[in-house]
Amino acid sequence: MKPRQLKIARTASQIVFFLLLAALLVGTFCSVSLGGDYYLSCPLGVLQLTLGAREMLVGAVVSGLLLIGLTLLLGRVFCGWICPFGALTDWLRKPLARCRAARADGPALHPDNKVLKYGVLGGVLLAAGIFRSPAFCTICPVGTTCRTAGLQGVNFGLETATVPLILSLETVNRRFWCKVLCPIGALLAVFARFRLAKIRLPFAACAGCNRCEQACAMGNSPRQGHECLKTDPTVLQALIEYGVPDLLDRPGQYERAPQPLRDLLDAKAGSLSVSGAECTSCYSCVAACPVLNRQADKSGAVDQSAQISA
Ligand code: SF4
Ligand code: SF4
Repeated sequence: MKPRQLKIARTASQIVFFLLLAALLVGTFCSVSLGGDYYLSCPLGVLQLTLGAREMLVGAVVSGLLLIGLTLLLGRVFCGWICPFGALTDWLRKPLARCRAARADGPALHPDNKVLKYGVLGGVLLAAGIFRSPAFCTICPVGTTCRTAGLQGVNFGLETATVPLILSLETVNRRFWCKVLCPIGALLAVFARFRLAKIRLPFAACAGCNRCEQACAMGNSPRQGHECLKTDPTVLQALIEYGVPDLLDRPGQYERAPQPLRDLLDAKAGSLSVSGAECTSCYSCVAACPVLNRQADKSGAVDQSAQISA
C-alpha cells in the first residue's frame, strides 16, 4: 500500500468500526458477539471480571485473547484503527487544538509521562479484585463513547459526561488520554513491544526533516532508527573507509553514496524499526515521510506528501 493510501485506509477503518461498535452492533465494545458462542471482548474487561470472580472464566479469557493476538501481530492497531474514542480524538483534533493553551503541566499530567498509564492499569485491576466488580468499565471512554453514540448512555448522566470530560484532556496534548492515562492502551502496550509486523522508515536514506516526529500524535521519535544507525560501529567504520564520515548527517547524500555502502546501510537499517509499545500503528509517520513518498513516486504513485498532515 502506498503511504498516501494508508491514511485513507485508517480513516475508513475508524469510520467503519465507529459505526459498527457505536451504532449498529451493541453500542459497546465490552463484548461483541461474533456469532454462536464466539465473542470479541475487551481484554481489560476480561481481566477485571476474572479478578472480581476470583476464578478463571475460560470463555471470557478466550474472547479477550483475540485482541491480544492481533496486538502481538500488528501492535496497538486497536488504538490507531479501531478504538471509537481514539477515532473521536483524531476527528476532533483541530477544534481541540484551538483550545490547547501553552500551560505549565505538573509532572503527573505532563504528556511525556507515559508510564502513568501502567499505574492506572494496576489501580483498575486492584479495584476490580477488591470490590469484585469491573468498576472501570462504567467510566471507560471506549465503552461510554459507544454507549453514548448508540444512545444507550443518555439515561446515565454521569456516565455520558465521561466522554466530553476525557476529551477535554486533549486540550493538554494530542492523544493525551491514550499516551498518559489509558489502562487498555497500557495493557496492549505490554504485548505490542513484541509485535511481529514492524514499522520501518527509510533510516538509511533519512533526510532528517523530522516530519515523522511532527506527525506522531503519540509523541514518539520514529526516526530513532536513523540515530541508532549513526552509532553502529560497522557503519561508522564503513563511512570512514569510504571517506564520507558525515554522510548520515547530510540530507540527500545517501543517493550519492557508492552502492556497496548503500547496501551495508540498507542491511543495517533493515533490522531497525519504530519501537512498539507506545506506537498505535497509525502509520502517520510513514505517510508523512518525503523519502518514502518519493520512492512510491518513482514506482508510479503520485507524490502527495505535501498534502498529508498529522
Ligand atoms: S505509526 Fe508512527 S506516527 Fe503512528 S504512533 Fe507509531 S510511531 Fe507514531
Ligand atoms: S520523515 Fe522520513 S526523512 Fe524525515 S526525518 Fe522522518 S524518516 Fe527521516
